[in-house]
Amino acid sequence: MRFVRFQIGKEPPQYGWLYEEMVGRLEGTPLGEFRRLDVEFPLEAVRLLPPVLPGKIIGIGRNYFEHAREHGVEVPEVPLLFLKPPSAIIGPGDPILLPPQSARVEHEAELAVVIGRRARWVSADQAQHFVLGYTIANDVTARDLQRRDGQWTRGKGFDTFCPIGPWIDTNCDPADLLINCRVNGELRQMASTREMVFTVQQLIAFITSVMTLEPGDIILTGTPAGTGPIEAGDLVSITIEGLGELENPAVQALPEK
Ligand code: MG
Repeated sequence: MRFVRFQIGKEPPQYGWLYEEMVGRLEGTPLGEFRRLDVEFPLEAVRLLPPVLPGKIIGIGRNYFEHAREHGVEVPEVPLLFLKPPSAIIGPGDPILLPPQSARVEHEAELAVVIGRRARWVSADQAQHFVLGYTIANDVTARDLQRRDGQWTRGKGFDTFCPIGPWIDTNCDPADLLINCRVNGELRQMASTREMVFTVQQLIAFITSVMTLEPGDIILTGTPAGTGPIEAGDLVSITIEGLGELENPAVQALPEK
């Protein structure tokens, strides 16, 4: 099944489900009890929103060998965790705001795991039972600030630095999905999730040995090689097999006066 969050005109945002190119409303939420109503809107007639509003976003650093190599670092012996703030979330088509503090903002195409049930001390074998589904994420990073600060909160924490969407797919197997990232149509990243250092199941086991995962939390599973700069006017387009396409323009953010 595919879940979306959407808005029609000035109606409040709501959850829905997707059948082919049609959207139906959902009574309840995909994070708990819900009932699917009949499909009633063509997909192009609704505005898609971030498919979930996470309580927390757990990022994984250096989870692809080739990406670690391009940055001249080793892959870690255990998963390298960081947090992005929920205020960074934007949806399909929303602009990535390039902050004036950074001269180098980069895209990071990633498979995102959406948690469906509260999880603590979950084994890798059991991990799949705590997953609602999968979506696409862009772990947008101000690379210069990330390097300068040593820790990653500022470089990865700006508003708009976590585009997700377009929907949550509950039937997808994360073991071998092709990830593509294009900027203005030019291919920048292409890899399979089978090249991950730690699998989705291993990541869930590791994270839940540290913190409780709540329904709606998301895990960004790391980016493959080929990350590169994005500039004002660029269009970043990420596709993952079975999960559609997540497209976001980049615009220069001006400091509030
Ligand atoms: Mg990343």
